[in-house]
Amino acid sequence: MKFGGTSVADAQCIQRVVDILEKHHKAGDELAVVVSAKRGVTDQLIGIATALPTAKDDTAIAPLIQALSRRHITTLEGAAPDYVGEVGAEMEEQLIRLQNILFAIYHLRELTPRSKDYVISFGERLLAPILSAAIRQRGIASTVMDGCEAGILTTPQHGESTSLPESDERIKRRVGPLLGKEIPVIMGFMGCTRDGVLTTLGRSGSDYSASIIGAGIDADEIWIWTDVDGIMTCDPRVINDARVMPSLSYLEVMELSYFGAKVMHPRSIEPAMRKNILVRVKNTFNPSHPGTVIVRNGKRDNRVVKALTYIDKVAAININGAQMIGRPGVAKAIFTILADHEVNVMMISQGSSEANISLIVDESHLSAAVKALSELMKQGVVREVSHNHDVCAVAVVGAGMAGAPGTGGRIFTALGHAEVNVMMISQGSSEANISFVVSQSDGPRAVRVLHDEFRLSEESDE
Ligand code: ADP
Ligand code: ASP
Ligand code: MG
Repeated sequence: MKFGGTSVADAQCIQRVVDILEKHHKAGDELAVVVSAKRGVTDQLIGIATALPTAKDDTAIAPLIQALSRRHITTLEGAAPDYVGEVGAEMEEQLIRLQNILFAIYHLRELTPRSKDYVISFGERLLAPILSAAIRQRGIASTVMDGCEAGILTTPQHGESTSLPESDERIKRRVGPLLGKEIPVIMGFMGCTRDGVLTTLGRSGSDYSASIIGAGIDADEIWIWTDVDGIMTCDPRVINDARVMPSLSYLEVMELSYFGAKVMHPRSIEPAMRKNILVRVKNTFNPSHPGTVIVRNGKRDNRVVKALTYIDKVAAININGAQMIGRPGVAKAIFTILADHEVNVMMISQGSSEANISLIVDESHLSAAVKALSELMKQGVVREVSHNHDVCAVAVVGAGMAGAPGTGGRIFTALGHAEVNVMMISQGSSEANISFVVSQSDGPRAVRVLHDEFRLSEESDE
């Protein structure tokens, strides 16, 4: 079971989490827990770490440490009063370690990917011992492990690392023997390289941690506890009548999270899928709701389109150059140089004239992409590169779209009637998604139009 940031926001929330754990424990379920940082803490840590190398002075450090200390001690006092001395002392040690590294970043005037990962792991480091103590407070044994101790070995890509195949065996050896005897609490979001250097798994990475741990111990089920009743037809902050979907396939969830549905980390399905483990998404604040069940073949229903996503933090890059016609090496050169600069290309579309390739990249990768492509311009491989910030990507997802003719027609007809101008279209090879790009100002309307067109707010008549 994984609990996200809002599920552990304060002592009352932690009590709610322990109620859930206690109930399952008493029913005889063997549990391992993965937990995130408190909501907002990771953002605070990223904020200070990135500001310090150019900060005028170091006066931001002490107030941050004090605020973190206060926030966590208050939660500890409320959730595990008998453990305030022991766990509070550990917490103070952690905070001293964090303070020291922040001063070092300020004085060195440098934040390396490695030190950034170390700093941003402190949200989980501070919270997990509190949850573990709250479990002990109820008379159930519990120990805390960081991601590395639990056996998660990763690639060395700081900030976006991926679990290695050896993790399975290590997790089984380290976490497996504890199951049934106690409830181990594992810090989400982190692992380490073969050399023992701490890495993080990308934002929202605790979902991924849960799936890695679940696969390692061959869990029967992986439960992601969050602050909504399940995976919905669209981000409820964009569409107010979005509906919870009872069942989805692994593929559908992968498409949704890849295209920005924030409810799950994009890589979190892969370990579960590899071991064919059922994943459930449930609401900590409404535990009796059945939530969303994710399995290999989601329940068949008569719906072709199931859900929509909307990402506004993307940019479009247009590459022009007549040299591309009939020159197969050009696409290779473009994608190789982008990969070398660690640019993640989200969507690709090539004009039939072959003289033009358009790409959609994460906004944070835009400057690296433009720099990489300007090298190709210098080499004469492409003629012109332009980019546009003012765009957003919308994805229409549903496994039933494969082999259902006419879905594309319906999407673009509805958008046409609403006078939404579509700038680029791409269909995933899985055929479980059709994605397109519109101007940023058209994004929410495009999503609304399609949510209505496919009647996503209504229960399906299965
Ligand atoms: P946690 O802290 O539990 O990991 P997150 O904030 O990362 O929670 O993810 C849950 C949030 O994801 C929801 O509160 C909701 O606002 C947002 N969200 C975006 N898209 C969807 C979707 N399709 N279904 C459900 N929630 C979504
Ligand atoms: N605390 C991390 C983040 O905010 C990981 C997570 O919450 O899943 O990104
Ligand atoms: Mg999350």
